[in-house]
Amino acid sequence: TSESRKRLVIGNWKMHGTLAGNASLLADLRSGAGEAGACELAVCAPFPYLAQVQSLLQGSAVSWGAQDLSVHEQGAYTGEVAGAMLNDFSCRWVLVGHSERRALHGETDQLVADKAAAALAAGLTPVVCVGETLAEQEAGRTAAVIARQLAPVLALGAQAVARMVLAYEPVWAIGTGRTATPEQAQQVHASIRAMLAALGTSQVRVLYGGSVKASNAASLFAMADIDGALVGGASLVAQEFLRIAAA
Ligand code: PGA
Repeated sequence: TSESRKRLVIGNWKMHGTLAGNASLLADLRSGAGEAGACELAVCAPFPYLAQVQSLLQGSAVSWGAQDLSVHEQGAYTGEVAGAMLNDFSCRWVLVGHSERRALHGETDQLVADKAAAALAAGLTPVVCVGETLAEQEAGRTAAVIARQLAPVLALGAQAVARMVLAYEPVWAIGTGRTATPEQAQQVHASIRAMLAALGTSQVRVLYGGSVKASNAASLFAMADIDGALVGGASLVAQEFLRIAAA
């Protein structure tokens, strides 16, 4: 991680949790967050639990957010959640374009960029996720896929992009136990960093995601262009998540 970009570790709970389970996880995060040191720590919870997360984390070192938002501000959009609603629960972050949203809910590169813009308009920090599938990686198309996914996001302009966080998550590494090697990840992060530099936004943090755990976090964080992690499975266990933050 560069000296000038503060390390950021975000937990993505996905569709996991119960009121009772969350209460103990959040209490453990709250009390353990001091040990995360210079690292910024956050969790992105399912919508119904945002009120609980807010009440149990407010005043702590851990911030919170959601996993998706609507591009619309309000209206006849059954089942959708607007950025302003997330703001009502003091969310700081919102994931956009997670590969599960892209693959299972047909989110296009343009829709993801529109969601990032909607998040900024609501005063939230979008965490824009990109990443190639196994087939794309094996076909040597990783760089082209990342560039295509990021194009409509970068087209929002330097001022907008400067207020975002990006996350590189190779789809083949998500939930598979198969992490990209630090060198593999660094290569993609360096190419993303070059695109950001061309736009004049070198302070944007680029997180790595995909089977990050306490045992591999330090070697990933040692890479020059990896500014933190987006953590799925390992974020559901307080001590494991805190060890990632401390790595
Ligand atoms: P994982 O998920 O850490 O369980 O691989 C990461 C993610 O999908 O954000």
